[in-house]
Amino acid sequence: MTEIQSTPLMRQYHAIKQQVPNALLLFRLGDFYEMFFEDAATAARELSITLTARHGTPMCGVPYHASDGYIAKLIQRGYRVAICEQTEAAGQGKKLVNREIARIITPGTATEANVLNAKENNYLGAVGRDSKDPLRAALAYVDVSTGEFRVTLLPAHEVAPLVESLNIKEILLPVKDHTLSGLQTTLEPWVFDYEYCERLLKEHFKLLSLDGFGMGAQPLAVSAAGALLHYLKDTQKAALDHLDRPGYYERGEAMVLDPVTVRNLELVDPIFSSDLGGGKSSTLISVLDETVTGMGARMLRRRLLRPSVQQNEIEARLDAVEELRSATIPRTGLRDKLQGVYDIERLLAKVTMNTAGPRELLALAKSLNLVPAIQTPLRGFGAALLQHLNAQLVDLSELRTRVLQGLSDEPPVSIVDGGVIRDGVDPELDQLRDIQRNGKQYVAQVEVRERERTNIQSLKVRFNNVFGYYIEISKSNLHLVPSDYDRKQTLVNAERFTTPELKELESKILEAEERIQTIEKQLFTELRLFAASFALGIRQTATALAELDVLLALAEVAVSRRYTRPRFSTNNEFRVVGGRHPVVEKLVEADAARFIPNDIFLDSSKFVAVITGPNMGGKSTYLRQAAMMSILAQIGSFVPAEEALLPVVDRVFTRIGAADNLARGRSTFMVEMTETALILNTATNRSLVVLDEIGRGTSTYDGLALAWAVVEFLHQRVGAKTLFATHYHELTVLEENLPGVRNLHVSVKEAGDQIIFLRKVEPGAAGKSFGIEVARLAALPEVVIDRARQILALHEKQQLTPPGDRAPEPMQIQLFEPVGGNIASRIRALKLDDLRPIEALQILAELQKELQ
Ligand code: ATP
Repeated sequence: MTEIQSTPLMRQYHAIKQQVPNALLLFRLGDFYEMFFEDAATAARELSITLTARHGTPMCGVPYHASDGYIAKLIQRGYRVAICEQTEAAGQGKKLVNREIARIITPGTATEANVLNAKENNYLGAVGRDSKDPLRAALAYVDVSTGEFRVTLLPAHEVAPLVESLNIKEILLPVKDHTLSGLQTTLEPWVFDYEYCERLLKEHFKLLSLDGFGMGAQPLAVSAAGALLHYLKDTQKAALDHLDRPGYYERGEAMVLDPVTVRNLELVDPIFSSDLGGGKSSTLISVLDETVTGMGARMLRRRLLRPSVQQNEIEARLDAVEELRSATIPRTGLRDKLQGVYDIERLLAKVTMNTAGPRELLALAKSLNLVPAIQTPLRGFGAALLQHLNAQLVDLSELRTRVLQGLSDEPPVSIVDGGVIRDGVDPELDQLRDIQRNGKQYVAQVEVRERERTNIQSLKVRFNNVFGYYIEISKSNLHLVPSDYDRKQTLVNAERFTTPELKELESKILEAEERIQTIEKQLFTELRLFAASFALGIRQTATALAELDVLLALAEVAVSRRYTRPRFSTNNEFRVVGGRHPVVEKLVEADAARFIPNDIFLDSSKFVAVITGPNMGGKSTYLRQAAMMSILAQIGSFVPAEEALLPVVDRVFTRIGAADNLARGRSTFMVEMTETALILNTATNRSLVVLDEIGRGTSTYDGLALAWAVVEFLHQRVGAKTLFATHYHELTVLEENLPGVRNLHVSVKEAGDQIIFLRKVEPGAAGKSFGIEVARLAALPEVVIDRARQILALHEKQQLTPPGDRAPEPMQIQLFEPVGGNIASRIRALKLDDLRPIEALQILAELQKELQ
């Protein structure tokens, strides 16, 4: 063992490190957090800080007051960080101060503002599994930074997609699971034990039974939620009073949107990052997010990823949006007020976890102070939901008043900087502050007086940490020093003295300073605990404000984007008149162009639309527009249309484009088929299915056959409302074969060899593909365009009439055979023995002509 390892300090270090073998240990030493050994090497590399060595021990450190940024960086890189603090002051003569782990921060448990995104939740998840029934699972998830806590049951194979949809940052499991790689934290299996978890949940939420919130009868849900709570207690070492009771929900209570659909429709994230064009402005949330608080933005995002399927709930939201939409002045007033509200959810989390500083507590109180001003206009509204929200807002006047009267107007970020508590709150504190202020003045007076008495103009009264207050006199004036001066220290050019008077003054001031710190800390902690005791009311108020913010935002969008209120059909009718794509519409307008509205009509008798038409004609836009219409309506938003009558759908499925997933080691075609399989296996007759270009990633013949079979299956077996865009014109004959199929096409106008996109969707099949014309628009070399035209002409000449009721004979296949393949077979078929030379020559001339 090296010398440093055998010191008491290092023994203490090793003992603590043993408790957190999987975390980087930030070990507090005075004003620094130090790291040693492997941890030091990792941190130095990740943080670009210098790695040093003392007595052969690698180490590095960061100053504690600037540690937030460093910790954030480590968490963002996926590390776990254990913060070890000194739990007692370094007293004189005491060799080793006590140290303990104050908190373990992990990617799923961070509450630091610089790790979090204000507009997104930061979830930690836990999976409950049943060893006897491996197909079932429970997923519990919590956002420690806001208190949201939910749990649901689901088929085991849907865990990974849900984890992806929710963007869960860390997931707790009893054993490793390859489908969740990179996110998992493996805990010992007993943590998931049902009895243990049940007891833990009951104790924490002070409940006699878990039946009250619907999960009593669901052992898997209890085990997932309990494991989560166990881990939080273990890492956060705080009361966690702000956590919601785990809200149990069944998957059927909301519309399920799989990650593929969320991505394809660009609900919250763009498919392409901004350097490839696109960017955030291509997302649906960018159009909708007129919220003014982080809480509202997060709730809107959650809703968008999980629209409702309960018509009552949807109508209640629409009623509220409608009323807010038409009440311009109160709406603007409410939004102005909300703008002044800070992120109450996250502030509360910090308050209950004892990490909130004075400014954060003040921000919380100031925000709550705005609640009465929000309630006044809210009272004037008639919509049941708005009235309900108003009733949910708790007037926390006792809390507000006490915090606002207790804290000074501009407190420092950190408690140690002093000046946290307002004058007049605590008599002892006031008195000590007086001593401190006047004491300093008195020191100044001593300086003036002593200068006069000794006649030494350069005499100074100063202070340092080692010697306290002293009088400094330069060497040249030493002969003037009075006899009552006590020598303290000799420097090269000066000597330092003290006097009995100065000594007394010093102890008074220093004691006052220390005592002020203690009292301020105590009063602040009391105030924070007092605030924490209102956690439930604050949380309830925060949720109501978030919802109000969402409704106001939707009303704002309805006004500015001219949306209408959707109505819901009971007979499965899906009828949109003058519908627009919410995002493309905005982008098109930004280019000073006009979006062409289109109608959508599906009902129980015609529920599959096969859409053909040229590339760039607007098929994908039309398809997504339909999917978004349902999603918008079911989150309670107005929709971009003149009129919309929609069924409440249970799921929206999309299979769009060739956004391949090569990074996951699957080919484009494989991805396409996996996604299609999910749809065919799960869609119901209450679902909306949007399929764009099925079967394009394989040979034409196979692709067409697959597309054909998929439409048949959706029509005959599933009965889902389906929009199917395709380039296989052969599919349009399905309209004749299957009663529920209707053909639509996007129209274009031909002007010479130019085409004009009309972007109008009309009944019937498209006459022509225009693929070559579009390729020309894309500036393919003329030679290639000309040659393509020749090949197409040749191909069309040979084309057979499309089949009627028998299996398709895809003609496109011949495009890909060698040119002249037909000629070769004709030559092969010639009976040379029967041929006269002149006939042979004639045939040769013919063949040559065909090849030109
Ligand atoms: P492809 O077959 O090549 O995928 P597509 O038929 O699916 O093409 P879209 O991608 O939907 O075509 O549309 C192409 C572009 O046309 C869009 O990016 C959009 O800018 C514009 N567009 C589509 N629909 C409309 C519309 N209704 N009004 C105005 N512009 C539109």
